[in-house]
Amino acid sequence: MKIICIGRNYLKHVLELGNKVPSEPLMFMKPASALLVNNKAFYHPEFSDNIHYEAEIVLKVCKNGRHVQPEFAASYYQEIALGIDFTARDLQERCKAKGHPWEIAKGFDGSAPISRFIPLTDEMRREGIGFSLRKNDVLVQDGHTSDLIFDFDTLICHISKYFKLQVGDMIYTGTPAGVGPVAIGDILVGSIEGEELLSCHIK
Ligand code: ZN
Repeated sequence: MKIICIGRNYLKHVLELGNKVPSEPLMFMKPASALLVNNKAFYHPEFSDNIHYEAEIVLKVCKNGRHVQPEFAASYYQEIALGIDFTARDLQERCKAKGHPWEIAKGFDGSAPISRFIPLTDEMRREGIGFSLRKNDVLVQDGHTSDLIFDFDTLICHISKYFKLQVGDMIYTGTPAGVGPVAIGDILVGSIEGEELLSCHIK
């Protein structure tokens, strides 16, 4: 199982971090050891003073495939979850400045909380998916997949050019605007279409 993440996939988020709009999907990976399931607490690591939450819709890959063509892309995912792509923003800025890889800023233990998966309905495929994140009961991120720069099908095609998609792989599809830091004691609650699916206590 691998975790593929997409960066800079919502315009307002690209702008809030002062990044350039990508001309093709920006990909990176997290190891399986990053996953945090069953609403387990996240233990704030000592190596960072600026861990950011990034709420994202996550696709679960349901079919193996390479070089997926656009007309078949939609059949590669049938379930979605709410995930958080925890990012050590201070380490990431240092890596970016040096042109170094991002793994230590993105793939550390517990950096990928994930809710249970729910079926992706036909209506969600047609109209897109609304999702949100609350921090200590204050709405901090409110996104909709109709605002994606690269939609799910485009991601499936692009990723599968480089990496064979395998059943069980997870794709974190990018975060909308409103990212920000977490502190010990915070509680994050993520929802899809108003249904609370993920809760994560920062310890
Ligand atoms: Zn992200």
